Amino acid sequence: MPGSVIQRRGLMLVLSSPSGAGKSTIARALLEREDELYLSISLTTRPPRPGEEEGRDYFFVTEDEYQKKVNDNELLEHARVFNNYYGTPRTLVERHLTAGEDVLFDIDWQGTQQLRESARDDVISIFILPPSYEELEKRLTGRGQDSEDVVSKRMAKASDEMSHWPEYDYVIVNDEIEESIQNVQAILKAERLRKMRRLGLGDFVKSIRRKG
Ligand code: 5GP
Repeated sequence: MPGSVIQRRGLMLVLSSPSGAGKSTIARALLEREDELYLSISLTTRPPRPGEEEGRDYFFVTEDEYQKKVNDNELLEHARVFNNYYGTPRTLVERHLTAGEDVLFDIDWQGTQQLRESARDDVISIFILPPSYEELEKRLTGRGQDSEDVVSKRMAKASDEMSHWPEYDYVIVNDEIEESIQNVQAILKAERLRKMRRLGLGDFVKSIRRKG
């Protein structure tokens, strides 16, 4: 067995940030560049924004449907964010992890706390910060998909969200998007190499010591 194919255990890569810090751009690039990384598609009770697709961006559900999934323990984590409910469906995530594939989560600090409580060793969390308040404001207004009222509420929320940075394993200041993407890739690469995730390491070492 060559060392390059040692079986490993999948990890949960969590990205959190205040809205507008560039998290979705980073997530999209990662999914394009990394073969063994899959996005966890959340469900939400908020209505779709223009251009969003069912099953690609979110599963859009009613509050009753959401509540039923909570009651049936079908969600790995769930939280109220702004005035809507969000949650991570359990089944697909568990399937990927068991197959030794990594799962990317775009969730808030509440969801990250819950994942950490239920699967501490498997969770790698990264908080993305905008380079400045002014830049955050510019990005939030520039997106042009939400009303002014929604934007100003999000700006107020951003400061609350950002207070949670110390709970994360890594913090990236998203000054330059390409550098931020490469930094997340570097984190992923190093975390994949941790010995506790490389299930086949013991057997591999045995095999190369055989004749020693
Ligand atoms: P948006 O409505 O702008 O897509 O997302 C709002 C916030 O909800 C973002 O910070 C996003 O990371 C968070 N979010 C999206 N899906 C989930 C989820 O399944 N669980 C939790 N806890 N937060 C989520």
